[in-house]
Amino acid sequence: MTLPRARLLLVSASAEGGSHLHASLLSRMSRFEVTRAQVPAEAVRLLAEHAYDGIVFEADDLAAARAGAKTFHHDFPDVPLVVVLAECTPEVETELKREGARDVLTRICLACDSDSVLQRVLGHLVENTRLVRELERARQLGLHLAHHDTLTGLPNRQFFRTRLREALARARRHPRPLAVFFIDLDRFKKINDTLGHNIGDLLLIEVGRRIRKCLRETDMVARRGGDEFTVILDGVANGKAAAMAARKIMEALSAPMVLDGNNLRVGASIGISLAPTDGHDVETLVKCADIAMYRAKARGGGFEFFLPEMGQRTVQWIDLENDLRQAIARKEFVLHYQPIVHVERGNVSCLEALVRWQHPERGLIFPDEFIGMAEETGLITELGEQVLFEACRQNKAWQNTGCSIVPIAVNFSAKQFQMGKSVDMVRSVLADTGLSPEFLDVELTESAIMSDPSFATETLRRMRDLGLRIAIDDFGTGHSSLAYLKRFPITKLKIDKAFVGGLMRDPKDAAITRAIISMAHNLQLTAVAEGVETKEQLEFLRHPGCDEVQGYLLSRPQPPEPIERLLRGESPLTAAPMAANN
Ligand code: C2E
Ligand code: MG
Ligand code: MG
Repeated sequence: MTLPRARLLLVSASAEGGSHLHASLLSRMSRFEVTRAQVPAEAVRLLAEHAYDGIVFEADDLAAARAGAKTFHHDFPDVPLVVVLAECTPEVETELKREGARDVLTRICLACDSDSVLQRVLGHLVENTRLVRELERARQLGLHLAHHDTLTGLPNRQFFRTRLREALARARRHPRPLAVFFIDLDRFKKINDTLGHNIGDLLLIEVGRRIRKCLRETDMVARRGGDEFTVILDGVANGKAAAMAARKIMEALSAPMVLDGNNLRVGASIGISLAPTDGHDVETLVKCADIAMYRAKARGGGFEFFLPEMGQRTVQWIDLENDLRQAIARKEFVLHYQPIVHVERGNVSCLEALVRWQHPERGLIFPDEFIGMAEETGLITELGEQVLFEACRQNKAWQNTGCSIVPIAVNFSAKQFQMGKSVDMVRSVLADTGLSPEFLDVELTESAIMSDPSFATETLRRMRDLGLRIAIDDFGTGHSSLAYLKRFPITKLKIDKAFVGGLMRDPKDAAITRAIISMAHNLQLTAVAEGVETKEQLEFLRHPGCDEVQGYLLSRPQPPEPIERLLRGESPLTAAPMAANN
């Protein structure tokens, strides 16, 4: 950054002396900006129009010096005046100083030792309040810029480290616990990509402001970079107090934000480390909080305290991420299909495609182990497209070879759905595989829809317009508002297997299941029960009129070959639902 230059007014009638002085000022003092005036009257005019930090007045004689000093001091008492004379006595100097001159120099001394004389001149100038103020402001600004994030005005990463180091030193002297939060926003990239950087910037500013408001004066929030923020809670009584603060931040961030006319919601994942339990130094505490944040994110948001075993898992995760990337490139994913069976008719009414990773060393890996990572890294888009393509291609192939014709259901993860391109992707996959849209069901969870209901309404409407059917998966476990069932164009509710699993043990699960079936029917939706493992469960479901069932009782998810035999009628389901009556 450039410091302000001192603006100097050189008043000199003497062409020779003035230019000498001028040249000295210019050559030695890069901080000077020199304006020349020939006579005091001209100088007064300039002083009236511009701000100067000092006047150097080279007078022809004592009378001129006296008159000039009087004028300048009278009209511009705040601008320091240095008078330069051919020669000077101590009496003259005293007299001129009385008239308002800050200093008096002789031409001789200026010529002999211009450096130290000019230094003296500069000394007078910096006393000038404007310059001092500006220099101070510049210094402060320099300091502020070095320590703060320019967008949010919050302390930056370096300043955070300094403050954390200081807080840890204090905590060592007067033992008291301290918490570090690592906060990462969820869905920020999507907002930035779809609504533009200006909205993204506004959002970061608002997020910083909201976090700050949740904290005490003595706490600190810093922006680490991107959509990452860090917090120091100095002297938190215990983990409970840290959890309370984390909850408060989550709540503050999840409230809608209206930014430039856009109604937005962001979530956050918070990792928490505690000193001295998790570490004593800046690096360790930030790393532990970061690891815990990663875990929180993998679970779909919220906050997590660091646990020592998390470190180990993170290393595995990093390996997994690299593997996953390669697996997508090498197309190591396979689909298994699980029949969904019509309860009354007993036939297969749909097949759910479930992805598995055929890992070259670890064997078959189930989706719970990698979908979270695929979402987190954005790889879900490509993986989701591969899955959709393969499911549609396979279904079309079965149809072409005389198998019984049933729709295929494909799971869309929340992140994949929220990416915004899902409708275009579905349209092009249908076109490429030639599968007719009525043979495709899309399964979405409540949370995928509820995180941005207006976006979901629009996307689901476009999907329905394409001719697909939409099922709500794992119904009853997400955070949902029942009002959306009325608003969204959905056709099926899949009752979560947790309720089905408890049917025979827990009257509450039984009551919830019955209520969901009845609600689905009242809303003209198909009720499907997931995770049906026993004949008793199937019997129970039959009474309230559950339309379809899926579960190990009927068939486990299987590779394409056995499913094809089933579709050709060459092999039966493990337990046909109608048989349950017999
Ligand atoms: P989901 O969509 O609810 O799928 C049903 C899960 O329940 C499957 O687990 C299935 O194997 C399991 N299941 C079926 N019948 C029974 C039963 O009788 N008892 C029990 N205990 N479980 C049963 P899977 O294949 O491990 O998939 C887990 C989850 O991973 C799926 O839950 C779905 O949310 C996700 N997933 C699977 N494939 C994909 C995919 O291609 N894309 C995305 N985004 N997610 C997928
Ligand atoms: Mg599903
Ligand atoms: Mg499910």
